[in-house]
Amino acid sequence: MLNLNSNIKYIKGVGEKRAELFNKLGIFDVDSLLRFFPRKYEDWSNTKSVLEAENGENVAVKATMITPVKEAMIRRGMTLYKCRFSDGESIINVTIFNNKYLAKALRVYEDYVLYGKLEKNFTAASMSSPKIEKLDTGVRVHPIYPATGKLTSNAIAKVVKTALDSLGEIPETLSDSIRNEYGLTSLDRAIRQIHFPDSDRDMAEARKRLIFEELLTLQLGMLKLKSANKSETSLQIKRDYTKEFCTLLPYELTGAQKRAIAECTQDMKKSVPMARLLQGDVGSGKTAVGAGLVYTVCKNGYQAALMAPTEILAFQHYEGLSAMLGKADIKVELLTGSTKAKDKREIKARLMAGEIDLLIGTHALIQNDVEFKNLGLVITDEQHRFGVKQRASLAEKGKGVHTLVMSATPIPRTLGLILYGDLDISVLDELPPGRQEIRTDVVDSRYNARLYKFMKDAIARGEQCYVICPMVEESEETEGLKSAEQFADELSQGAFAGYNIGLLHGKMKPKEKEKVMSAFAGGDICLLVATTVVEVGVDVPNATIMVIENAERFGLSQLHQLRGRIGRGSKKSYCVLISDSKSENAKERLLTMKKYSDGFRIADEDLKTRGPGDFFGERQHGLPKLRIADMLEDMEVLMLTQECAHKILERDYNLDLPENQALCTQINNMFRELTY
Ligand code: ADP
Ligand code: MG
Repeated sequence: MLNLNSNIKYIKGVGEKRAELFNKLGIFDVDSLLRFFPRKYEDWSNTKSVLEAENGENVAVKATMITPVKEAMIRRGMTLYKCRFSDGESIINVTIFNNKYLAKALRVYEDYVLYGKLEKNFTAASMSSPKIEKLDTGVRVHPIYPATGKLTSNAIAKVVKTALDSLGEIPETLSDSIRNEYGLTSLDRAIRQIHFPDSDRDMAEARKRLIFEELLTLQLGMLKLKSANKSETSLQIKRDYTKEFCTLLPYELTGAQKRAIAECTQDMKKSVPMARLLQGDVGSGKTAVGAGLVYTVCKNGYQAALMAPTEILAFQHYEGLSAMLGKADIKVELLTGSTKAKDKREIKARLMAGEIDLLIGTHALIQNDVEFKNLGLVITDEQHRFGVKQRASLAEKGKGVHTLVMSATPIPRTLGLILYGDLDISVLDELPPGRQEIRTDVVDSRYNARLYKFMKDAIARGEQCYVICPMVEESEETEGLKSAEQFADELSQGAFAGYNIGLLHGKMKPKEKEKVMSAFAGGDICLLVATTVVEVGVDVPNATIMVIENAERFGLSQLHQLRGRIGRGSKKSYCVLISDSKSENAKERLLTMKKYSDGFRIADEDLKTRGPGDFFGERQHGLPKLRIADMLEDMEVLMLTQECAHKILERDYNLDLPENQALCTQINNMFRELTY
């Protein structure tokens, strides 16, 4: 007898070999198989006769096979099977391509249901490669699974069916009281109906229950992760050194920056650790806020850590902050994946001895052997790039550590509540003075010659340019799509021959990237061809032009982040989005960038259009992958589960009660999958 934890290889008809195919889909045990939900359904329950069906309709027809299969080889490796069916009134000519198994399994005078496109003309009806099942099992709603090459949707359906048939009642995960309160069907019924629904209504009920459970699990898991940091703290800040810090800056802080620093400092004086989100559009000056806090924390005798999502950004923070804070005798070090082993050892030793005040780095910072002497403050920059677990691990490096997360990505309120829950929020709603609006244009490549001239003029004035190319998979052979390498070659041999062109992309070694980035920041490179590796945080105020190739391949929020790399100084900046896309929709999306400069506004549009790289698609904000729920579409359920999660925790904060054990397991399962 199977149970939910049984390895799928024990399901009848699976075995070792096929189990591997399932493993590739992330399916290892019966539980994960049953939670591999259909992507959509085909309704074979509403059968029609040939006379009732329209020409060209996708339809299920009950029919009897009336002639044996005739085989014809069309060419090598391609066999055609022909046979006839009758629905009692009309004849249906069926052709099957290459599917020997199906052709051999069909028996004359047996009853079947055929599903597919029905072609009718005056003399006959025909179906080409319809799906065919026996009548007694075929007339129902069929699940369609996201299949992979060797594992067809049909094969998955059969295995799911076998598993369900040999499984007892699936144990319930939600307490009766929750199910009653929110009107949810049992898990057993939901799982059975989501795979093989009896009706649309049953399917809707099943979905509701499963979406609710998934979002509830997510909420509880997030709340639990967070509560780890809600202890007391002894790391209170005694004195505020912001005034002193300001003397290190070449500019005056904006009102918003001052306010944010004050709010954070206030937090750090309390007996619970600070847990704050600093949200500010690109270029609003979040780094200076972080630096101010680091200053105060270090002057109070604690250490600080700053984690950035890319080596480039970490390196840049290191260069900027060590120059700024070094003047005040604050020792800054950089630790990334590419730091040499010997240097790493030394840095770790000095960190433990308290000889380093601020450690900047990538996720190398959260490795187990990185130990601080007395860590007081953890800052994560552009935090949406990190998984939730990563953030938590860094904070766990000290007890009661203050945390600040800095993010330029505006997020919808509901999602914000999940991600940041009880975080306090400071907003930088003011840009540093002297910034000029960036002029944005959407053009096609016919404009290139003029554009290059325009860029050369800027370079002649001593300014610098970015050219951004989308990341191109090697398998992709789309016309007109060039990789950054190709593009850099082309420019340096063509329009920009004799110019010092730099190239920056994700596959380069970190040291090479640093070299290129330094050369660009130092002005030695006048034109930088790059992929989105420059998307986050990079700050070269002298760069005034950004050209984005194949702009239709980027998400709007991503374009906004990219555009934020220019317009950082006092000189007028230009962003040129190049797209040869014929799609009206794509053009329309890109024009949003011309219309709006406000990141929040653009994020809204991004949500509405859900283009490539959208907010909930690729980058899920480090949240666990959802199997059935959709953050946007299931917003209402999300609100309900929020309320429900709080109710559960109010009664049973540690989820110790027997009725909550199954949920606990669910949470562990969901968050176990969270790789960093
Ligand atoms: P982001 O919020 O995108 O991380 P940065 O911290 O990189 O922004 O700051 C963007 C640019 O603005 C930097 O060049 C920084 O030196 C400059 N800057 C920050 N604060 C001020 C200010 N108050 N006045 C003038 N320039 C500032
Ligand atoms: Mg930044």
